[in-house]
Amino acid sequence: MSEPSLPAPGAISRPGPEGSTVTRTMCPMSCHPTLCGMLAQTRDGQLQSVQGDAANPDSRGFLCIRGQASREIFGNPDRLLQPLMRARRDAALEPASWEAVLTRISASIRASAPQATALWPGHGTATTDYGTRINGQLMARFANFTGAQFWSPPMVCWGLGGFGLGLTGVLETNTKEDMGEHSQLILLWGANLASQPNTARHLIAAQRRGARLVTIDVRHTEAAAKSDEVLLIRPGSDAALALAMMHVIIRDGLHDAAFIDQHTLGFEALREQVRDLSPQWAAGQTGLAATRIESLAHSYARTRPAMIVLGGSSMHKGDNGWQAARAIACLPGLTGQIGVPGSGLGPRHGSAAHGRGLGNISAPEKRVPGTAMPNQMSSITQALREGRIDNLLLFGCNMLSSFADSHAVAEGLRRTHLVVSHDLFLNDTARAHADIVLPATAWLEELGCKATHTHLYLMPRVLAPAGQCRSVLAILTELARQLQLQGFHPWADEEAMVDAALDHPATGHATVAALRAEGGMRALKVSPVAYPTYRFDTPSGRIEFFSARAQALGLGALPGPGPQLAKADEDYPLQLAQGRTLAHFHGFYDNGRALPTLARREAEPHVWLSPADAQARGISDGVAIRMSSARGELFGRARVTDKIPAGSVWLRDGWPALNRLTRGDAILPDAAVDLFPFSAGQAHYGAAVQVQAC
Ligand code: SF4
Repeated sequence: MSEPSLPAPGAISRPGPEGSTVTRTMCPMSCHPTLCGMLAQTRDGQLQSVQGDAANPDSRGFLCIRGQASREIFGNPDRLLQPLMRARRDAALEPASWEAVLTRISASIRASAPQATALWPGHGTATTDYGTRINGQLMARFANFTGAQFWSPPMVCWGLGGFGLGLTGVLETNTKEDMGEHSQLILLWGANLASQPNTARHLIAAQRRGARLVTIDVRHTEAAAKSDEVLLIRPGSDAALALAMMHVIIRDGLHDAAFIDQHTLGFEALREQVRDLSPQWAAGQTGLAATRIESLAHSYARTRPAMIVLGGSSMHKGDNGWQAARAIACLPGLTGQIGVPGSGLGPRHGSAAHGRGLGNISAPEKRVPGTAMPNQMSSITQALREGRIDNLLLFGCNMLSSFADSHAVAEGLRRTHLVVSHDLFLNDTARAHADIVLPATAWLEELGCKATHTHLYLMPRVLAPAGQCRSVLAILTELARQLQLQGFHPWADEEAMVDAALDHPATGHATVAALRAEGGMRALKVSPVAYPTYRFDTPSGRIEFFSARAQALGLGALPGPGPQLAKADEDYPLQLAQGRTLAHFHGFYDNGRALPTLARREAEPHVWLSPADAQARGISDGVAIRMSSARGELFGRARVTDKIPAGSVWLRDGWPALNRLTRGDAILPDAAVDLFPFSAGQAHYGAAVQVQAC
């Protein structure tokens, strides 16, 4: 088996200085809705430099420290360049041939029941296909052909929030360009610029027009620094704030009766539901003064058009993740602020603009009914612990860092007969649990295509794979050949496979050849405004304040505050929240430690702690600390800052030790997690913690 041959340079490459070639591509990270254009300069088969692509209409030349650091993948002494294997878990990983490792994997799959093999992809597989899901679709295709499990990654990310939005019926989002041109008030609700820096330009444009920015978050973020007003609330209290805003809007007659009558369902029941959920009640939940909640509700209802930019992932990772999204999603319906420019919900990780679509290459018709486990994180962990998964193929992920309750995950991985890790670098999961490690191609060594909310971008293959590295496509195609999966790769070549994945009216039925001829980018045929036809994503076609689907699932038909699951108490009095920083992205690159630029920025976990909480514990800024929950402990360094209120602590996600603290139990019933085309089976990431100086 060999990698496909290099494509001839096309219109998206041009001669660079001193015999080099400059090729238009995209940053390998996937900070969706931000994806950034990149120019890669290569010579003699080596990467010389990367820089932002000023011609990219989404990023306009921006390339952050993470994007700049991606050049350090090439020539990196820690990069995996050949397969590794070990006979026993307590033995060292040793170099092995591709033939040996793939033969062992296919033999183990053949020897197991079909449903006892599982594929779990992380963000690392989306470096060349975020928004087009080519690798994800290939893995799903492999699972459909074999009867294996393929678990959907939004369950570690935005899926639970998406569930709340989906119940209400507002999954589509307006574009950042629409926001910049039209919104008069923008609520950045758990949304931060570290996660979507390309939104910043449009926020500033809106501010210059006179729009007001308000940040609602658990800490003072990069977005807060640009906002006109900042409301810091307790982790898990977002739903309470939204419900109290609805109370004020209805009480003061600021709702849009005509819109409610024509386009929503269940207003009278909602009115009853929020009757007692006053700003005074929410003050006790959120830590905000009741007057500020009143003022926010008035401002949102009276300013037109107003938009809510909702956090993609972090705000859904604690208590009440889906109830927060469910309640917040009712606000545009209550005020008639949706379906017109500048309104509704703004750009969000994992969301799509109206009209968006893709070709389907996952072969769902091949699936044998009844063999798929639900996309439920706690059930997956349980299946591993009970030895029901024989073969676990991990692609571009560090499961110990991304799954809640990593103690339980580690126990499950120990019981799994064969664990395979495909990645650029070793990570914690691979070091401790992988029987086989497969070296992965980097983004410049693959053909790919990414999509933002508005554009499609070709990512040509410009370098030969380093060492013996191989792509997801190459590995699955060879495994399919060994397993005799007829028709797994029916396309003439890799380009034809990508063409099939892109084949949809929204892309203008784009092909690799057409994109190459167009300079590597094409505008999608989508609406900048969500729900322009006022047909919403619910059975009734209306915005559902009252959801019969939720009721049938035993979740309560109406939005509510939800239970507090990770309760602070005397032993663990602080509420843990997590998020993203500008210098790191989840557990990528062995938690950033493999790339020198990122490793220098943050070599260990930094725990944000308020001055009051620090003083009460005799902790000063920069000292070594131990953070513990009822489940485990994490060692790091204190960052004492007034940017977080007393009672809360925060650190960035991706540190494996972080999920030794989190709970990992199910939030939704199994019947609910696959209600939508994305997985909502996120386990509970919340934790009440204590922090002590070491
Ligand atoms: S924000 Fe940074 S890491 Fe994310 S896509 Fe842009 S350049 Fe890459």
